[in-house]
Amino acid sequence: VRGRWRELADGVLAYRHPTLDLTTGLVLGTRGCLVIDTGGDVAWGARLAGQVRRITTLPWTVALTHGHFDHCFGTAGFVGAPVWAHPGCRTAIERTATAQRERWVEAFRTGDGVEPDPVRADALAATEPALPGELTDPAPGAPPVRLDLGGLHAELHHLGPGHTDHDLVVHVPQRGVLFAGDLLESGGPPDFEDARPAHWASTVDAMLALRPRVLVPGHGDPMEPRQAARQRAELAVVAALCARQARGDHPDDLVAQSPYPPATTRTALGRPPG
Ligand SMILES: [Zn+2]
Repeated sequence: VRGRWRELADGVLAYRHPTLDLTTGLVLGTRGCLVIDTGGDVAWGARLAGQVRRITTLPWTVALTHGHFDHCFGTAGFVGAPVWAHPGCRTAIERTATAQRERWVEAFRTGDGVEPDPVRADALAATEPALPGELTDPAPGAPPVRLDLGGLHAELHHLGPGHTDHDLVVHVPQRGVLFAGDLLESGGPPDFEDARPAHWASTVDAMLALRPRVLVPGHGDPMEPRQAARQRAELAVVAALCARQARGDHPDDLVAQSPYPPATTRTALGRPPG
């Protein structure tokens, strides 16, 4: 294992990307491998696919945690892979790919909230994201899809809404590792732009109930259960603030009581209740 790969458990790896501090996953069985999230454009995905091929030549399957560009616009790099996602992820890509591309091409060109990166901007401008073809049961808490990789299996769960309405988590029960997508963040505050604040904490509860030893966030360092539990408590505070706003409390008072920065809290307060 070398470069930006980090081995979390036997056959379970995370790759740390310099752009956006994105973290993607790789699970290695004896007959196949599972790639979790694909990067934010075709060039990014092709580069990640090359990094995977330096680790293994086994047939690959892809699982997408959700439809935000940085997690799924690189899928075309994984030629021939079956691509799993929640049906809401497919819908989100279909409906929002154009808007996400425009917004983030501009962000990478101007350095708005991200390190300026004109090469990344050009690659994203040329990306038409591939759609997932293998869809999970959309119901929260439905039995997971079980992917047998040979000696090791991975389970794809939709435990409820949170960061989006279609978050998928990937659990490797034999190794105690869970890939959480952006339901958890260790590099900064969670992103509420498409969130369901009222449900997020209980979805993290359902993740912790699977008793993982390591939780891998969509951005930043792997977390221990106690760190995820701390984030769960913060998310519950935000949910309570949203409920108070629905009852008429003023946003300025609520922002002052949030565990997160004002801009993050205002985004959360702007999301539909319930
Ligand atoms: Zn996201």
